[in-house]
Amino acid sequence: MAGRETPNRQIDARQIETKLIHAGEASPRYAGAISMPIFQSSTFEYSGESDYHDVRYIRLNNTPNHVVLHAKLAALENAEGAVVASSGMAAISTALLSLLASGDHLIVQDTLYGGTHDLVSQDLPALGIGVTFVDGRDPSSWATQIRPTTRAIYVEALSNPLLQLPDLEAVVGFAREHAIVSMIDNTFTSPMNFRPAELGFDLSLHSATKYLNGHTDIVAGAVIGRTDLVDQVRRKLNHLGGTLDPHAAFLLHRGLKTLAVRVRHQNVSALRLAEFLDRHPAVTRVNYPGLPGHPQHALASRLFDGFGGMISFELEGGLAAVERCFDRLTLPASAPSLGGVESLVTRPSTTSHAGMERRLRESLGISDTLVRLSVGLEATEDLIQDFEQALTS
Ligand code: PLP
Repeated sequence: MAGRETPNRQIDARQIETKLIHAGEASPRYAGAISMPIFQSSTFEYSGESDYHDVRYIRLNNTPNHVVLHAKLAALENAEGAVVASSGMAAISTALLSLLASGDHLIVQDTLYGGTHDLVSQDLPALGIGVTFVDGRDPSSWATQIRPTTRAIYVEALSNPLLQLPDLEAVVGFAREHAIVSMIDNTFTSPMNFRPAELGFDLSLHSATKYLNGHTDIVAGAVIGRTDLVDQVRRKLNHLGGTLDPHAAFLLHRGLKTLAVRVRHQNVSALRLAEFLDRHPAVTRVNYPGLPGHPQHALASRLFDGFGGMISFELEGGLAAVERCFDRLTLPASAPSLGGVESLVTRPSTTSHAGMERRLRESLGISDTLVRLSVGLEATEDLIQDFEQALTS
């Protein structure tokens, strides 16, 4: 049995490429196995644990497959601790419920992944938790929203699907000033491009389904950050039951090892595609933080190590033009989700943001014709040629 999970308080000074391969790995290796085996056992022999949360059991997120992931993920973001969950939504909902109870209040960015938006606008109020939406780019508008019951502020590093960048430094400053918890969904940026703990964020959340795993074959989530808060989340997760299955943990572990090479390629490829789309006469608007015309380009350049693999754009000619383009594309499949090796296109209004009321969706800038592109690992030239033929009638 691996040793007890100890908080990763010591910052691992090795480069992220090295940490992806070596951080958190069992030492000595199990039976000498270079690749971490899957511990497909729901329960483990009792060895004197006195705390319920330490009893070795898959739902309690403490099998060897969990332990190695927790240490590796914490090391990747230079954070104190981490816990994995059965999906990104399990990570997000459990983290929020570990901090908020009836009567409490949350400040949250208005443009968010649709599932998170539905959770905070529908489920939290049903539990008696107050929620106020703010423009993440306008810190001057937040102060009037703070209440004695406010416990946390929640943003996305790059918002889904508009690629807006909140004023991240102001979020951390605001949380400290008001003694509330700062939470950030770091899915789109991944630890390759941004490590929230370095800026002072308390909790970083991931849909590990996306870049962290990278192969479009599991759903998983992660919460990374301050050990006291991660421990609170882990205990809540043990009660709510959103644990990660060991086989999915194995696949996430395997996928993580190539994060650096995948995201570096995607950073370069997406920038070239965004530049190509930006120049194309059939395209009316491109949202990509790497383009000098993006309103927060300077902030993204300063805070991020890369601009990521996600682009959204609008086409001349409305829905008919979008449908024609999707029909003609031969490389990107039309499918929800993102961050994998295959390029994917989707219309968020019919997938990730289908649950949002149309008027609200449109007021936020998520039109029926907005296209979201997740750039995969295909050759950039092939993707550009594919878009060229799909956009040219
Ligand atoms: N956060 C973001 C930014 C997402 O895009 C998604 C899913 O698309 C989620 C969270 C939810 O993740 P999951 O589908 O793994 O529950």
